[in-house]
Amino acid sequence: MTTYNKMIFEVSQPGRIGVDLPTSDVDPVTLTDKFPSHLLRDSEAELPEVSELQLMRHYTALSNKNYGVDSGFYPLGSCTMKYNPKVNEDIARLDGISRIHPYQPEETVQGALQLLYELQADLAEITGMDEVSLQPSAGAQGEWTGLMIAKHYHKQNGQNRTKVLVPDSAHGTNPATAAIAGFETVTIPSNEAGLVDLAELKQHVNEETAALMLTNPNTLGLFEKDIVEIAQVVHEAGGLLYYDGANANAILGRTTPGKMGFDIVHLNLHKTFTTPHGGGGPGAGPVGVTKELAPYLPIPRVEKNGDQYTLNTSEKLSIGRVKGYYGNFGILARAYTYIRTMGPDGLYQVSESAVLHANYLKKRLEPYYATPYPQVCKHEFVLSGSKQKKLGVRTLDIAKRLLDFGYHPPTIYFPLNVEEGLMIEPTETETKETLDAFADTMIAIAKEVENDPQMVLNAPHTTVIGRLDETKASRKPILRYTKED
Ligand SMILES: *Cc1c(COP(=O)(O)O)cnc(C)c1O
Repeated sequence: MTTYNKMIFEVSQPGRIGVDLPTSDVDPVTLTDKFPSHLLRDSEAELPEVSELQLMRHYTALSNKNYGVDSGFYPLGSCTMKYNPKVNEDIARLDGISRIHPYQPEETVQGALQLLYELQADLAEITGMDEVSLQPSAGAQGEWTGLMIAKHYHKQNGQNRTKVLVPDSAHGTNPATAAIAGFETVTIPSNEAGLVDLAELKQHVNEETAALMLTNPNTLGLFEKDIVEIAQVVHEAGGLLYYDGANANAILGRTTPGKMGFDIVHLNLHKTFTTPHGGGGPGAGPVGVTKELAPYLPIPRVEKNGDQYTLNTSEKLSIGRVKGYYGNFGILARAYTYIRTMGPDGLYQVSESAVLHANYLKKRLEPYYATPYPQVCKHEFVLSGSKQKKLGVRTLDIAKRLLDFGYHPPTIYFPLNVEEGLMIEPTETETKETLDAFADTMIAIAKEVENDPQMVLNAPHTTVIGRLDETKASRKPILRYTKED
């Protein structure tokens, strides 16, 4: 604890004031009348007493302890930590967007409904789906919405399908979603090339299959080249194909899940479409479906009748609401801004640069780190720390050492089918200089592992806190300031 800057409570001096508040015109007696006595405090709140400048420094110091895309390179695989253009923020803060209320009559919020309607249409085009709902507020919630749609669809067709197939390279949310939606998960092993093993798939697909959940390119950054045949196998058995489109950076403008044969798709606007990830705060995981599944989408649906935008709540087959009102509207406004500022050509350029950047970094690192899947990758790639492990240094140590150089580490130990995995997603928004500086650092660390392993094993050396007991930190987090005696 002693390594922290002095906290605001510790610099407090009685009587020091940072802001002049007007004298209260509320009679304390009225308060006592209005609220039950057990809700009223009986002593003054112990608030820090500091000057305005001290307060400013307190918050600035706290913000400096954060690391984000705006502070440095953030190659966290499967998370698409790209730059969030600030014009998105300007638009989301316009009065007509930020100061409206979801209970306003439809005719007074036609512009907002038009934005939602057009975003639905844009995302439908980008995914090759027929209809989109913007309601789900995260990728995982999009997955759940999609599987509930699959469930209702099968039930409506009088079929009892209880199993969801998930490849072993899948994101952890896929099997978790299947379980929460009441399905049994069947794991499909990958083949040596890191792709879905068709023979294994054929063995597991049957009349109990509700859906196959797939990411393409998969979490190894590899394109499932047999996707058309995979789709055929699942469809012939009466199952649906679910596309986990959390990271759509490699396919923007190139191809669509629709063309690949998928029936249901979710996107993560907080990954591909430059809305903030927000530390568990508002995200958006819109879901797109084919015509056949459209009646099952959540209500209300934003529709256009003549030149009026309306909210339709009457769809009988709908799975219902999955989120209050119409989704995280401010976030949807940001994604709309991004799509409209980029345009189709801009989005096409995104996928080109994202894939180029990943392959460039991969080529530079290949001589120093094992590459279990050496073929050309898409938006991300996975290295293995297996060479370094033989020298007594683990991937976790390498990740910690990266902190000393001011980088957010890549995703580690994921996907699960790679030994000592390091999953790197550079994104399209970085410069070549940034990619080179990161590659130089990774190479320098690989050399340290050989020449000075203690340096890596004891990392990080420059952060406020060294190695955490990560289990304790997540099981018993200390979330409140406590005064040191
Ligand atoms: C991030 C991610 C998810 C989950 O998205 P959340 O918004 O975090 O719930 C699902 N699948 C893949 C492949 C992802 O990368």
